[in-house]
Amino acid sequence: MEDCLFCKIIAGEIPSKKAYEDDDMIIFSDIDPKAKYHYLCVPKTHFKLLSEMTEKQGEILLKCLKKIPELEKELHLKGGYRLVINQGDNAGQSVFHLHIHILSGQKMGWTPA
Ligand code: 5GP
Ligand code: ZN
Repeated sequence: MEDCLFCKIIAGEIPSKKAYEDDDMIIFSDIDPKAKYHYLCVPKTHFKLLSEMTEKQGEILLKCLKKIPELEKELHLKGGYRLVINQGDNAGQSVFHLHIHILSGQKMGWTPA
């Protein structure tokens, strides 16, 4: 997808601090961390919203959700972690390529505002 930041990161056109990669997904550190550790798990297939997701993309998203806990050590998940998927304007989605935020390494509050 042209002009998509995450497609460019997937293609290696923009550098990222990679924690994991396979044929279906890439996981790298967020450039502006909101917790002690903050990663983004990005399916390599481009879509913006869960409401637009195809069956195949759904299978890949499930693979992402299963892979994340397997990376307990690499992603500092011990003790608990938080996954966030921002969807649309109200959530402040700023990159229109679906991604899972992975926040870890500290106790977290709950302040949606
Ligand atoms: P969203 O707001 O769409 O849910 O999340 C987009 C995330 O991408 C933000 O947390 C932001 O910090 C991160 N981000 C934006 N530009 C870059 C970049 O160039 N590299 C990396 N690693 N993360 C980025
Ligand atoms: Zn994209």
